[in-house]
Amino acid sequence: MNPSKSSVEPEMASSAPEPRPSNFLREKIADDLKTGKYHHVQTRFPPEPNGYLHIGHAKAICIDFGLADEFGGKTNLRFDDTNPEKEDTEYVDSIQQDVRWLGFDWEGLYYASDYFDQIYDWAIQLIKAGKAYVDDLNADQVREYRGTLTQPGKESPYRNRSVEENLDLFTRMKNGEFPDGSRTLRAKIDMASPNLNMRDPIMYRILRAEHHRTGNKWLIYPTYDWAHGQSDSIEKVTHSMCSLEFADHQPLYNWFIEQLGIFPSQQIEFDRLAITYTLLSKRKLLQLVNEKRVSGWDDPRMPTLSGMRRRGYTPEAIRNFIAAVGVSRTNGIVELEMLEHFVREDLNKHAPRVMAVLKPLKIVIDNYPEGQVEQMDAVNNPEDPNAGSRTVPFSKTLYIEQDDFREVPPPKYFRLSPGKEVRLRYGYFITAKSIVKNALGEVIEVHCTYDPSTRGGNAPDGRKVKSTIHWVSAAHAVDAEVRMYEKLFSKEDPGAVEEGQNFTANLNPNSLEIISDAKLEPSLANAAAGTRYQFERLGYFCVDPDSKAGKPVFNRTVALKDSWAKIEKKGR
Ligand code: ATP
Ligand code: MG
Repeated sequence: MNPSKSSVEPEMASSAPEPRPSNFLREKIADDLKTGKYHHVQTRFPPEPNGYLHIGHAKAICIDFGLADEFGGKTNLRFDDTNPEKEDTEYVDSIQQDVRWLGFDWEGLYYASDYFDQIYDWAIQLIKAGKAYVDDLNADQVREYRGTLTQPGKESPYRNRSVEENLDLFTRMKNGEFPDGSRTLRAKIDMASPNLNMRDPIMYRILRAEHHRTGNKWLIYPTYDWAHGQSDSIEKVTHSMCSLEFADHQPLYNWFIEQLGIFPSQQIEFDRLAITYTLLSKRKLLQLVNEKRVSGWDDPRMPTLSGMRRRGYTPEAIRNFIAAVGVSRTNGIVELEMLEHFVREDLNKHAPRVMAVLKPLKIVIDNYPEGQVEQMDAVNNPEDPNAGSRTVPFSKTLYIEQDDFREVPPPKYFRLSPGKEVRLRYGYFITAKSIVKNALGEVIEVHCTYDPSTRGGNAPDGRKVKSTIHWVSAAHAVDAEVRMYEKLFSKEDPGAVEEGQNFTANLNPNSLEIISDAKLEPSLANAAAGTRYQFERLGYFCVDPDSKAGKPVFNRTVALKDSWAKIEKKGR
Protein backbone atom coordinates (compact mmCIF):
# COMPACT_ATOMS: atom_id res chain seq x y z
CA MET A 1 0.00 0.00 0.00
CA ASN A 2 1.32 3.38 -0.91
CA PRO A 3 0.95 6.14 1.58
CA SER A 4 -0.97 9.04 0.17
CA LYS A 5 0.51 12.45 -0.45
CA SER A 6 -2.81 14.20 -0.53
CA SER A 7 -4.45 16.68 1.77
CA VAL A 8 -7.12 14.12 2.61
CA GLU A 9 -4.99 12.21 5.07
CA PRO A 10 -4.93 8.46 4.79
CA GLU A 11 -5.74 7.53 8.31
CA MET A 12 -4.13 4.87 10.39
CA ALA A 13 -2.11 3.19 7.69
CA SER A 14 -1.56 -0.37 8.82
CA SER A 15 1.83 -0.91 10.40
CA ALA A 16 3.01 -4.47 9.91
CA PRO A 17 1.73 -6.30 6.85
CA GLU A 18 -0.21 -9.35 7.93
CA PRO A 19 0.37 -12.64 6.16
CA ARG A 20 -2.31 -12.82 3.49
CA PRO A 21 -4.14 -15.97 2.54
CA SER A 22 -3.68 -16.88 -1.08
CA ASN A 23 -6.34 -16.37 -3.70
CA PHE A 24 -6.65 -17.15 -7.38
CA LEU A 25 -5.71 -13.61 -8.45
CA ARG A 26 -2.50 -13.68 -6.46
CA GLU A 27 -1.70 -17.17 -7.76
CA LYS A 28 -2.35 -16.09 -11.34
CA ILE A 29 0.00 -13.11 -11.07
CA ALA A 30 2.69 -15.22 -9.41
CA ASP A 31 2.30 -17.79 -12.14
CA ASP A 32 2.51 -15.24 -14.96
CA LEU A 33 5.76 -13.90 -13.53
CA LYS A 34 7.16 -17.39 -13.08
CA THR A 35 6.37 -18.52 -16.62
CA GLY A 36 7.68 -15.26 -18.05
CA LYS A 37 4.34 -14.27 -19.55
CA TYR A 38 5.02 -10.86 -18.04
CA HIS A 39 8.11 -9.37 -16.49
CA HIS A 40 6.37 -6.66 -14.54
CA VAL A 41 3.04 -6.16 -12.81
CA GLN A 42 0.92 -3.20 -13.84
CA THR A 43 -2.69 -2.81 -12.77
CA ARG A 44 -5.22 -0.02 -13.03
CA PHE A 45 -8.36 1.07 -11.26
CA PRO A 46 -10.73 2.25 -14.02
CA PRO A 47 -13.80 4.05 -12.67
CA GLU A 48 -16.22 5.77 -14.96
CA PRO A 49 -16.60 9.32 -13.58
CA ASN A 50 -20.39 9.11 -13.57
CA GLY A 51 -20.90 8.99 -9.81
CA TYR A 52 -19.18 8.73 -6.45
CA LEU A 53 -17.31 5.61 -5.48
CA HIS A 54 -19.13 3.07 -3.32
CA ILE A 55 -17.86 0.25 -1.16
CA GLY A 56 -18.01 -2.13 -4.13
CA HIS A 57 -15.35 0.03 -5.74
CA ALA A 58 -13.33 -0.22 -2.53
CA LYS A 59 -13.05 -3.93 -3.19
CA ALA A 60 -11.72 -3.33 -6.71
CA ILE A 61 -9.34 -0.65 -5.39
CA CYS A 62 -7.95 -2.91 -2.68
CA ILE A 63 -7.43 -5.67 -5.24
CA ASP A 64 -5.90 -3.48 -7.96
CA PHE A 65 -3.58 -1.52 -5.68
CA GLY A 66 -3.02 -4.24 -3.11
CA LEU A 67 -1.91 -6.97 -5.51
CA ALA A 68 0.30 -4.68 -7.59
CA ASP A 69 2.00 -3.52 -4.43
CA GLU A 70 2.59 -7.07 -3.24
CA PHE A 71 4.41 -7.89 -6.46
CA GLY A 72 6.40 -4.67 -6.63
CA GLY A 73 4.15 -3.43 -9.42
CA LYS A 74 2.37 -0.18 -10.13
CA THR A 75 -1.25 0.90 -10.34
CA ASN A 76 -2.72 3.66 -12.47
CA LEU A 77 -5.91 5.49 -11.80
CA ARG A 78 -7.66 5.69 -15.15
CA PHE A 79 -10.97 7.37 -15.74
CA ASP A 80 -13.01 5.43 -18.23
CA ASP A 81 -14.63 8.52 -19.69
CA THR A 82 -16.34 7.35 -22.86
CA ASN A 83 -19.91 8.47 -22.00
CA PRO A 84 -19.66 12.27 -22.03
CA GLU A 85 -23.35 12.79 -21.23
CA LYS A 86 -23.10 11.09 -17.85
CA GLU A 87 -19.65 12.20 -16.75
CA ASP A 88 -18.51 15.20 -14.81
CA THR A 89 -15.41 16.69 -13.20
CA GLU A 90 -17.21 16.68 -9.83
CA TYR A 91 -17.01 12.90 -10.00
CA VAL A 92 -13.41 12.94 -11.21
CA ASP A 93 -12.44 15.00 -8.15
CA SER A 94 -14.42 12.98 -5.64
CA ILE A 95 -13.00 9.71 -6.96
CA GLN A 96 -9.42 10.91 -6.47
CA GLN A 97 -10.21 12.09 -2.97
CA ASP A 98 -11.86 8.80 -2.06
CA VAL A 99 -9.07 6.59 -3.43
CA ARG A 100 -6.56 8.56 -1.38
CA TRP A 101 -8.72 8.50 1.71
CA LEU A 102 -8.91 4.74 1.43
CA GLY A 103 -5.12 4.78 1.69
CA PHE A 104 -3.86 4.37 -1.86
CA ASP A 105 -1.96 6.51 -4.31
CA TRP A 106 -1.57 5.92 -8.00
CA GLU A 107 1.44 5.84 -10.27
CA GLY A 108 -0.14 7.51 -13.30
CA LEU A 109 -3.39 9.43 -13.56
CA TYR A 110 -4.93 8.89 -16.97
CA TYR A 111 -8.17 9.21 -18.86
CA ALA A 112 -9.40 7.00 -21.67
CA SER A 113 -9.98 10.33 -23.42
CA ASP A 114 -6.18 10.87 -23.38
CA TYR A 115 -6.09 8.04 -25.89
CA PHE A 116 -8.92 9.06 -28.22
CA ASP A 117 -6.51 9.93 -31.05
CA GLN A 118 -4.62 6.66 -30.74
CA ILE A 119 -7.84 4.68 -30.48
CA TYR A 120 -9.13 6.45 -33.60
CA ASP A 121 -5.96 5.55 -35.50
CA TRP A 122 -6.39 1.93 -34.45
CA ALA A 123 -9.95 1.98 -35.78
CA ILE A 124 -8.57 3.08 -39.14
CA GLN A 125 -6.10 0.20 -38.92
CA LEU A 126 -8.93 -2.28 -38.39
CA ILE A 127 -10.96 -0.78 -41.26
CA LYS A 128 -7.95 -1.11 -43.55
CA ALA A 129 -7.55 -4.73 -42.49
CA GLY A 130 -11.19 -5.39 -43.38
CA LYS A 131 -12.03 -5.96 -39.71
CA ALA A 132 -14.37 -3.02 -39.16
CA TYR A 133 -17.16 -1.40 -41.16
CA VAL A 134 -19.53 1.53 -41.05
CA ASP A 135 -23.10 0.41 -40.50
CA ASP A 136 -26.17 2.49 -41.38
CA LEU A 137 -28.59 0.49 -39.23
CA ASN A 138 -30.09 2.51 -36.40
CA ALA A 139 -29.96 1.41 -32.77
CA ASP A 140 -33.25 -0.52 -32.91
CA GLN A 141 -32.23 -2.32 -36.06
CA VAL A 142 -28.81 -3.18 -34.66
CA ARG A 143 -30.53 -4.73 -31.67
CA GLU A 144 -32.95 -6.65 -33.86
CA TYR A 145 -30.20 -7.95 -36.13
CA ARG A 146 -28.10 -9.01 -33.16
CA GLY A 147 -30.36 -11.99 -32.38
CA THR A 148 -30.67 -13.54 -28.94
CA LEU A 149 -28.94 -16.14 -26.81
CA THR A 150 -30.92 -18.83 -28.62
CA GLN A 151 -31.01 -17.26 -32.09
CA PRO A 152 -28.04 -16.31 -34.23
CA GLY A 153 -27.81 -12.74 -35.48
CA LYS A 154 -28.30 -11.52 -39.03
CA GLU A 155 -25.61 -9.75 -40.97
CA SER A 156 -26.20 -6.10 -41.68
CA PRO A 157 -26.72 -5.26 -45.35
CA TYR A 158 -23.85 -2.75 -44.97
CA ARG A 159 -21.41 -5.33 -43.64
CA ASN A 160 -19.52 -5.88 -46.86
CA ARG A 161 -18.69 -2.34 -47.84
CA SER A 162 -15.31 -1.80 -49.41
CA VAL A 163 -12.40 -0.57 -47.34
CA GLU A 164 -12.44 2.70 -49.32
CA GLU A 165 -16.10 3.32 -48.64
CA ASN A 166 -15.66 2.50 -44.95
CA LEU A 167 -12.69 4.85 -44.64
CA ASP A 168 -14.63 7.61 -46.36
CA LEU A 169 -17.77 7.16 -44.27
CA PHE A 170 -15.85 6.83 -41.00
CA THR A 171 -13.92 10.03 -41.72
CA ARG A 172 -17.18 11.78 -42.46
CA MET A 173 -18.71 10.42 -39.24
CA LYS A 174 -15.80 12.00 -37.40
CA ASN A 175 -16.20 15.26 -39.31
CA GLY A 176 -19.81 15.66 -38.33
CA GLU A 177 -21.51 15.03 -41.66
CA PHE A 178 -24.13 12.67 -40.21
CA PRO A 179 -26.70 13.08 -37.47
CA ASP A 180 -26.33 11.49 -34.03
CA GLY A 181 -27.14 7.80 -33.98
CA SER A 182 -27.40 7.50 -37.76
CA ARG A 183 -24.30 5.35 -38.25
CA THR A 184 -21.86 3.29 -36.22
CA LEU A 185 -18.49 1.72 -36.73
CA ARG A 186 -18.64 -1.99 -35.98
CA ALA A 187 -16.07 -4.73 -35.66
CA LYS A 188 -16.51 -7.44 -38.26
CA ILE A 189 -16.39 -10.61 -36.22
CA ASP A 190 -19.17 -13.22 -36.27
CA MET A 191 -22.93 -12.64 -36.22
CA ALA A 192 -23.47 -16.30 -35.34
CA SER A 193 -21.17 -16.32 -32.33
CA PRO A 194 -22.73 -17.84 -29.22
CA ASN A 195 -21.28 -14.82 -27.39
CA LEU A 196 -23.47 -11.81 -28.14
CA ASN A 197 -20.55 -9.47 -27.53
CA MET A 198 -18.80 -10.98 -30.56
CA ARG A 199 -21.69 -10.28 -32.93
CA ASP A 200 -20.11 -7.32 -34.68
CA PRO A 201 -19.89 -5.11 -31.58
CA ILE A 202 -20.12 -1.37 -31.96
CA MET A 203 -16.82 0.49 -31.72
CA TYR A 204 -17.99 4.07 -32.30
CA ARG A 205 -21.25 5.94 -32.19
CA ILE A 206 -22.00 9.48 -33.36
CA LEU A 207 -22.75 11.70 -30.40
CA ARG A 208 -22.80 15.46 -30.19
CA ALA A 209 -22.10 15.85 -26.50
CA GLU A 210 -19.65 18.07 -24.71
CA HIS A 211 -16.99 15.97 -23.03
CA HIS A 212 -15.71 17.09 -19.61
CA ARG A 213 -12.13 16.98 -20.93
CA THR A 214 -12.14 17.01 -24.72
CA GLY A 215 -14.95 19.54 -24.99
CA ASN A 216 -16.48 19.54 -28.46
CA LYS A 217 -13.47 18.08 -30.25
CA TRP A 218 -15.12 14.73 -30.85
CA LEU A 219 -18.45 13.94 -32.45
CA ILE A 220 -17.85 10.22 -32.28
CA TYR A 221 -17.03 8.34 -29.09
CA PRO A 222 -15.56 4.87 -28.63
CA THR A 223 -17.59 2.31 -26.70
CA TYR A 224 -16.40 0.80 -23.43
CA ASP A 225 -15.34 -2.40 -25.19
CA TRP A 226 -13.35 -0.59 -27.85
CA ALA A 227 -11.65 1.77 -25.43
CA HIS A 228 -10.98 -0.29 -22.33
CA GLY A 229 -8.59 -2.98 -23.51
CA GLN A 230 -6.79 -0.53 -25.79
CA SER A 231 -6.25 1.86 -22.88
CA ASP A 232 -4.96 -1.05 -20.79
CA SER A 233 -2.59 -1.98 -23.59
CA ILE A 234 -1.27 1.58 -23.96
CA GLU A 235 -0.49 1.57 -20.24
CA LYS A 236 1.08 -1.91 -20.48
CA VAL A 237 -1.40 -3.22 -17.94
CA THR A 238 -0.61 -6.86 -17.27
CA HIS A 239 -3.54 -7.79 -15.07
CA SER A 240 -6.74 -5.94 -15.85
CA MET A 241 -8.92 -7.08 -12.98
CA CYS A 242 -12.62 -6.36 -12.98
CA SER A 243 -15.86 -7.70 -11.61
CA LEU A 244 -17.54 -10.79 -13.02
CA GLU A 245 -20.13 -9.10 -15.23
CA PHE A 246 -17.31 -8.37 -17.67
CA ALA A 247 -16.45 -12.07 -18.15
CA ASP A 248 -18.54 -12.24 -21.34
CA HIS A 249 -16.56 -9.34 -22.72
CA GLN A 250 -13.21 -11.05 -22.34
CA PRO A 251 -13.18 -12.73 -25.79
CA LEU A 252 -13.79 -9.33 -27.36
CA TYR A 253 -11.13 -7.72 -25.17
CA ASN A 254 -8.68 -10.30 -26.49
CA TRP A 255 -9.88 -10.09 -30.09
CA PHE A 256 -9.20 -6.36 -30.38
CA ILE A 257 -5.73 -6.71 -28.87
CA GLU A 258 -4.86 -9.63 -31.16
CA GLN A 259 -6.09 -7.88 -34.31
CA LEU A 260 -4.05 -4.80 -33.48
CA GLY A 261 -1.00 -6.76 -32.36
CA ILE A 262 -0.48 -4.46 -29.39
CA PHE A 263 0.74 -5.10 -25.82
CA PRO A 264 -1.11 -8.19 -24.59
CA SER A 265 -2.99 -6.95 -21.57
CA GLN A 266 -5.07 -9.61 -19.91
CA GLN A 267 -8.45 -9.39 -18.22
CA ILE A 268 -9.26 -11.40 -15.08
CA GLU A 269 -12.59 -11.32 -13.31
CA PHE A 270 -13.46 -11.60 -9.64
CA ASP A 271 -16.73 -11.57 -7.73
CA ARG A 272 -18.69 -8.38 -7.25
CA LEU A 273 -19.18 -7.22 -3.70
CA ALA A 274 -22.80 -7.28 -2.60
CA ILE A 275 -24.02 -6.48 0.91
CA THR A 276 -27.43 -7.07 2.46
CA TYR A 277 -29.75 -4.05 2.78
CA THR A 278 -27.43 -2.15 0.43
CA LEU A 279 -27.51 -1.12 -3.23
CA LEU A 280 -24.19 -0.84 -5.01
CA SER A 281 -25.01 0.78 -8.31
CA LYS A 282 -24.02 4.31 -9.17
CA ARG A 283 -27.09 4.66 -11.34
CA LYS A 284 -29.45 3.87 -8.49
CA LEU A 285 -27.48 5.90 -5.98
CA LEU A 286 -27.67 8.84 -8.39
CA GLN A 287 -31.44 8.41 -8.47
CA LEU A 288 -31.55 8.65 -4.65
CA VAL A 289 -29.53 11.86 -4.84
CA ASN A 290 -31.59 13.37 -7.68
CA GLU A 291 -34.89 12.55 -6.03
CA LYS A 292 -33.57 14.00 -2.75
CA ARG A 293 -34.23 10.76 -0.89
CA VAL A 294 -30.88 11.41 0.76
CA SER A 295 -29.06 14.67 1.40
CA GLY A 296 -26.40 13.97 -1.24
CA TRP A 297 -23.76 11.47 -2.33
CA ASP A 298 -22.16 11.86 1.09
CA ASP A 299 -25.31 11.32 3.11
CA PRO A 300 -24.08 9.14 6.01
CA ARG A 301 -26.62 6.46 5.05
CA MET A 302 -25.17 6.08 1.56
CA PRO A 303 -22.85 3.12 0.79
CA THR A 304 -20.49 5.58 -0.89
CA LEU A 305 -17.00 6.07 0.48
CA SER A 306 -17.83 9.75 1.04
CA GLY A 307 -20.99 8.78 2.95
CA MET A 308 -19.12 6.25 5.05
CA ARG A 309 -16.37 8.78 5.77
CA ARG A 310 -18.95 11.31 6.93
CA ARG A 311 -20.64 8.67 9.03
CA GLY A 312 -17.37 7.89 10.79
CA TYR A 313 -16.24 4.67 9.14
CA THR A 314 -12.47 4.46 8.97
CA PRO A 315 -10.48 3.52 5.87
CA GLU A 316 -8.77 0.83 7.88
CA ALA A 317 -12.10 -0.73 8.89
CA ILE A 318 -13.16 -0.79 5.24
CA ARG A 319 -9.88 -2.35 4.12
CA ASN A 320 -10.07 -4.97 6.86
CA PHE A 321 -13.63 -5.78 5.85
CA ILE A 322 -12.66 -6.13 2.18
CA ALA A 323 -9.73 -8.36 3.11
CA ALA A 324 -11.98 -10.54 5.25
CA VAL A 325 -14.57 -10.88 2.48
CA GLY A 326 -11.85 -12.14 0.14
CA VAL A 327 -12.18 -12.87 -3.57
CA SER A 328 -13.84 -15.68 -5.43
CA ARG A 329 -15.03 -16.62 -8.89
CA THR A 330 -18.71 -16.63 -8.03
CA ASN A 331 -20.86 -13.79 -6.80
CA GLY A 332 -22.19 -13.95 -3.27
CA ILE A 333 -23.60 -11.60 -0.69
CA VAL A 334 -22.24 -10.62 2.70
CA GLU A 335 -24.11 -9.39 5.74
CA LEU A 336 -24.18 -5.70 6.52
CA GLU A 337 -23.45 -6.71 10.13
CA MET A 338 -20.06 -7.99 8.99
CA LEU A 339 -19.09 -4.55 7.73
CA GLU A 340 -20.34 -3.01 10.97
CA HIS A 341 -18.31 -5.50 12.93
CA PHE A 342 -15.10 -4.28 11.31
CA VAL A 343 -16.07 -0.66 11.90
CA ARG A 344 -16.69 -1.35 15.58
CA GLU A 345 -13.51 -3.35 15.92
CA ASP A 346 -11.37 -0.52 14.56
CA LEU A 347 -13.14 2.26 16.43
CA ASN A 348 -12.90 0.28 19.65
CA LYS A 349 -9.12 0.50 19.35
CA HIS A 350 -8.87 4.15 18.41
CA ALA A 351 -11.94 6.17 19.40
CA PRO A 352 -11.71 8.16 22.64
CA ARG A 353 -14.52 7.51 25.12
CA VAL A 354 -16.69 10.40 26.21
CA MET A 355 -20.00 10.81 27.99
CA ALA A 356 -23.08 12.05 26.16
CA VAL A 357 -26.74 11.85 27.05
CA LEU A 358 -29.08 11.53 24.08
CA LYS A 359 -32.46 11.61 25.83
CA PRO A 360 -31.83 13.63 28.99
CA LEU A 361 -33.52 13.14 32.34
CA LYS A 362 -32.62 15.57 35.12
CA ILE A 363 -31.12 14.21 38.33
CA VAL A 364 -30.73 16.36 41.43
CA ILE A 365 -28.43 15.11 44.19
CA ASP A 366 -30.10 16.56 47.24
CA ASN A 367 -27.18 16.10 49.66
CA TYR A 368 -24.51 17.40 47.24
CA PRO A 369 -23.33 20.92 48.20
CA GLU A 370 -24.98 23.66 46.17
CA GLY A 371 -22.50 25.35 43.83
CA GLN A 372 -19.78 22.72 44.23
CA VAL A 373 -18.04 21.41 41.11
CA GLU A 374 -15.57 18.55 41.18
CA GLN A 375 -13.31 17.56 38.31
CA MET A 376 -13.50 13.79 37.99
CA ASP A 377 -10.72 11.81 36.31
CA ALA A 378 -11.88 9.92 33.24
CA VAL A 379 -9.92 7.47 31.11
CA ASN A 380 -9.88 8.35 27.41
CA ASN A 381 -9.54 4.85 26.03
CA PRO A 382 -9.05 1.71 28.09
CA GLU A 383 -7.92 -0.06 24.88
CA ASP A 384 -5.15 2.44 24.30
CA PRO A 385 -2.80 3.19 27.22
CA ASN A 386 -1.34 6.13 25.28
CA ALA A 387 -4.69 7.87 24.99
CA GLY A 388 -4.36 9.39 28.45
CA SER A 389 -7.10 10.86 30.56
CA ARG A 390 -9.18 14.00 31.00
CA THR A 391 -11.43 15.47 33.66
CA VAL A 392 -15.19 15.73 33.59
CA PRO A 393 -17.07 18.21 35.82
CA PHE A 394 -19.46 16.79 38.42
CA SER A 395 -22.11 18.88 40.14
CA LYS A 396 -25.42 18.77 41.97
CA THR A 397 -27.62 18.65 38.87
CA LEU A 398 -26.88 16.10 36.17
CA TYR A 399 -28.47 14.52 33.14
CA ILE A 400 -28.77 10.79 32.70
CA GLU A 401 -30.55 8.85 29.94
CA GLN A 402 -34.31 8.56 30.33
CA ASP A 403 -33.79 4.86 29.65
CA ASP A 404 -31.57 4.55 32.71
CA PHE A 405 -34.43 5.25 35.07
CA ARG A 406 -37.66 3.32 35.56
CA GLU A 407 -40.24 4.25 38.09
CA VAL A 408 -41.42 0.65 38.07
CA PRO A 409 -38.44 -1.49 37.08
CA PRO A 410 -39.13 -4.61 35.03
CA PRO A 411 -37.43 -7.88 36.09
CA LYS A 412 -33.64 -7.86 35.55
CA TYR A 413 -33.59 -4.08 35.29
CA PHE A 414 -30.57 -3.04 37.34
CA ARG A 415 -30.37 0.62 36.52
CA LEU A 416 -31.79 3.48 38.54
CA SER A 417 -35.23 3.09 40.11
CA PRO A 418 -36.74 4.29 43.40
CA GLY A 419 -34.66 3.04 46.34
CA LYS A 420 -31.98 1.48 44.08
CA GLU A 421 -28.32 2.42 44.18
CA VAL A 422 -26.18 2.70 41.00
CA ARG A 423 -22.73 3.98 40.15
CA LEU A 424 -22.26 7.14 38.13
CA ARG A 425 -19.31 6.49 35.86
CA TYR A 426 -16.17 8.21 37.24
CA GLY A 427 -18.43 9.71 39.94
CA TYR A 428 -20.25 8.42 42.99
CA PHE A 429 -22.85 5.89 44.02
CA ILE A 430 -26.29 7.47 44.04
CA THR A 431 -29.65 6.26 45.30
CA ALA A 432 -32.98 7.43 43.85
CA LYS A 433 -35.25 8.89 46.51
CA SER A 434 -38.15 10.68 44.89
CA ILE A 435 -39.48 11.79 41.54
CA VAL A 436 -41.15 14.85 40.03
CA LYS A 437 -43.72 14.39 37.27
CA ASN A 438 -45.20 16.81 34.78
CA ALA A 439 -48.89 17.28 34.04
CA LEU A 440 -48.76 14.35 31.61
CA GLY A 441 -47.51 12.07 34.37
CA GLU A 442 -44.02 11.79 32.87
CA VAL A 443 -41.02 11.69 35.18
CA ILE A 444 -39.08 14.90 34.61
CA GLU A 445 -36.77 14.94 37.60
CA VAL A 446 -35.32 12.36 39.94
CA HIS A 447 -34.05 13.35 43.35
CA CYS A 448 -31.18 11.26 44.67
CA THR A 449 -28.64 11.13 47.44
CA TYR A 450 -24.98 10.33 46.96
CA ASP A 451 -22.46 8.57 49.16
CA PRO A 452 -19.44 10.92 49.41
CA SER A 453 -17.17 7.99 50.33
CA THR A 454 -17.63 6.39 46.89
CA ARG A 455 -15.80 9.04 44.87
CA GLY A 456 -14.18 7.45 41.82
CA GLY A 457 -16.67 4.61 41.86
CA ASN A 458 -15.91 2.24 44.74
CA ALA A 459 -17.45 1.87 48.18
CA PRO A 460 -14.93 1.52 51.06
CA ASP A 461 -17.22 -1.05 52.70
CA GLY A 462 -17.00 -3.18 49.56
CA ARG A 463 -20.71 -3.08 48.73
CA LYS A 464 -21.53 -3.62 45.09
CA VAL A 465 -23.93 -2.03 42.67
CA LYS A 466 -25.19 -3.84 39.58
CA SER A 467 -25.11 -0.94 37.20
CA THR A 468 -22.88 1.92 36.09
CA ILE A 469 -24.52 4.67 34.13
CA HIS A 470 -23.19 7.69 32.29
CA TRP A 471 -24.14 11.29 32.96
CA VAL A 472 -23.36 14.88 32.08
CA SER A 473 -23.30 17.85 34.46
CA ALA A 474 -26.27 20.03 33.55
CA ALA A 475 -24.55 23.38 34.05
CA HIS A 476 -21.57 22.31 31.94
CA ALA A 477 -23.38 20.37 29.22
CA VAL A 478 -22.92 21.21 25.55
CA ASP A 479 -26.13 21.07 23.53
CA ALA A 480 -25.83 18.99 20.40
CA GLU A 481 -27.77 17.57 17.52
CA VAL A 482 -27.30 13.86 17.05
CA ARG A 483 -28.33 12.06 13.88
CA MET A 484 -29.23 8.46 14.45
CA TYR A 485 -29.14 6.19 11.42
CA GLU A 486 -30.76 2.89 10.67
CA LYS A 487 -30.47 0.82 7.49
CA LEU A 488 -31.28 2.86 4.38
CA PHE A 489 -33.41 0.03 3.02
CA SER A 490 -35.78 -2.18 4.90
CA LYS A 491 -35.43 -5.13 2.51
CA GLU A 492 -32.46 -7.46 2.60
CA ASP A 493 -32.31 -7.34 -1.20
CA PRO A 494 -33.44 -3.79 -1.95
CA GLY A 495 -32.96 -4.25 -5.69
CA ALA A 496 -35.70 -6.89 -5.82
CA VAL A 497 -38.98 -5.14 -6.54
CA GLU A 498 -42.52 -6.15 -7.31
CA GLU A 499 -44.04 -5.55 -10.74
CA GLY A 500 -44.48 -1.88 -11.45
CA GLN A 501 -42.55 -0.81 -8.34
CA ASN A 502 -39.33 1.10 -8.08
CA PHE A 503 -36.51 0.10 -5.72
CA THR A 504 -37.20 3.30 -3.79
CA ALA A 505 -40.30 1.52 -2.44
CA ASN A 506 -37.83 -0.49 -0.36
CA LEU A 507 -36.38 2.56 1.40
CA ASN A 508 -36.63 2.43 5.17
CA PRO A 509 -38.82 5.39 6.20
CA ASN A 510 -37.11 5.41 9.62
CA SER A 511 -33.51 5.47 8.48
CA LEU A 512 -32.85 8.88 10.07
CA GLU A 513 -33.89 10.11 13.51
CA ILE A 514 -32.72 13.55 14.56
CA ILE A 515 -32.18 14.17 18.25
CA SER A 516 -31.94 17.91 18.71
CA ASP A 517 -31.38 18.23 22.45
CA ALA A 518 -28.58 15.84 23.33
CA LYS A 519 -26.26 16.85 26.17
CA LEU A 520 -22.53 16.31 25.83
CA GLU A 521 -19.65 16.57 28.25
CA PRO A 522 -17.89 19.94 27.79
CA SER A 523 -14.73 18.51 26.19
CA LEU A 524 -16.80 18.07 23.00
CA ALA A 525 -17.76 21.73 22.58
CA ASN A 526 -15.36 22.40 19.73
CA ALA A 527 -14.64 18.93 18.36
CA ALA A 528 -13.41 19.10 14.78
CA ALA A 529 -15.52 17.69 11.96
CA GLY A 530 -14.58 14.10 11.24
CA THR A 531 -13.45 13.34 14.80
CA ARG A 532 -14.73 10.01 16.07
CA TYR A 533 -15.71 9.11 19.61
CA GLN A 534 -17.31 6.39 21.56
CA PHE A 535 -20.23 7.79 23.52
CA GLU A 536 -19.99 5.46 26.47
CA ARG A 537 -22.67 2.77 26.47
CA LEU A 538 -24.29 4.16 23.31
CA GLY A 539 -22.08 3.62 20.31
CA TYR A 540 -19.59 5.34 18.06
CA PHE A 541 -20.26 8.85 16.84
CA CYS A 542 -18.52 11.20 14.45
CA VAL A 543 -18.59 14.99 14.23
CA ASP A 544 -20.49 16.14 11.15
CA PRO A 545 -19.31 19.06 8.99
CA ASP A 546 -22.71 20.72 9.65
CA SER A 547 -21.46 21.50 13.17
CA LYS A 548 -21.40 25.16 14.29
CA ALA A 549 -19.22 26.66 17.01
CA GLY A 550 -20.70 25.62 20.35
CA LYS A 551 -23.41 23.50 18.65
CA PRO A 552 -21.85 20.34 17.36
CA VAL A 553 -23.70 17.87 15.16
CA PHE A 554 -22.86 14.19 15.55
CA ASN A 555 -23.58 11.22 13.32
CA ARG A 556 -24.04 7.85 14.90
CA THR A 557 -21.54 5.64 13.11
CA VAL A 558 -22.62 2.35 14.63
CA ALA A 559 -24.26 1.27 17.86
CA LEU A 560 -22.55 -0.77 20.53
CA LYS A 561 -24.13 -4.15 20.96
CA ASP A 562 -27.03 -3.62 23.29
CA SER A 563 -27.42 -6.63 25.55
CA TRP A 564 -30.38 -5.12 27.29
CA ALA A 565 -32.41 -4.90 24.10
CA LYS A 566 -31.82 -8.63 23.60
CA ILE A 567 -32.85 -9.57 27.12
CA GLU A 568 -35.91 -7.38 26.83
CA LYS A 569 -36.91 -8.99 23.55
CA LYS A 570 -36.42 -12.51 24.90
CA GLY A 571 -38.44 -11.70 28.01
CA ARG A 572 -41.52 -10.82 25.93
P1 ATP B 1 -21.83 0.73 -10.95
O1 ATP B 1 -22.64 -0.40 -11.48
O2 ATP B 1 -22.06 1.02 -9.52
O3 ATP B 1 -21.88 1.96 -11.78
P2 ATP B 1 -19.54 0.04 -12.33
O4 ATP B 1 -19.01 -1.33 -12.40
O5 ATP B 1 -20.29 0.54 -13.50
O6 ATP B 1 -20.37 0.20 -11.02
P3 ATP B 1 -17.12 1.43 -12.78
O7 ATP B 1 -16.80 2.83 -12.45
O8 ATP B 1 -17.26 1.06 -14.18
O9 ATP B 1 -18.45 1.09 -11.98
O10 ATP B 1 -16.16 0.43 -12.04
C1 ATP B 1 -14.79 0.61 -11.78
C2 ATP B 1 -14.23 -0.71 -11.31
O11 ATP B 1 -14.86 -1.09 -10.10
C3 ATP B 1 -14.48 -1.83 -12.31
O12 ATP B 1 -13.28 -2.56 -12.43
C4 ATP B 1 -15.54 -2.66 -11.66
O13 ATP B 1 -15.36 -4.01 -11.99
C5 ATP B 1 -15.30 -2.42 -10.18
N1 ATP B 1 -16.52 -2.57 -9.39
C6 ATP B 1 -17.65 -1.85 -9.47
N2 ATP B 1 -18.57 -2.29 -8.61
C7 ATP B 1 -18.01 -3.32 -7.94
C8 ATP B 1 -18.46 -4.20 -6.90
N3 ATP B 1 -19.69 -4.11 -6.37
N4 ATP B 1 -17.60 -5.15 -6.45
C9 ATP B 1 -16.37 -5.25 -6.97
N5 ATP B 1 -15.89 -4.46 -7.94
C10 ATP B 1 -16.69 -3.50 -8.43
MG1 MG C 1 -19.83 0.70 -15.34
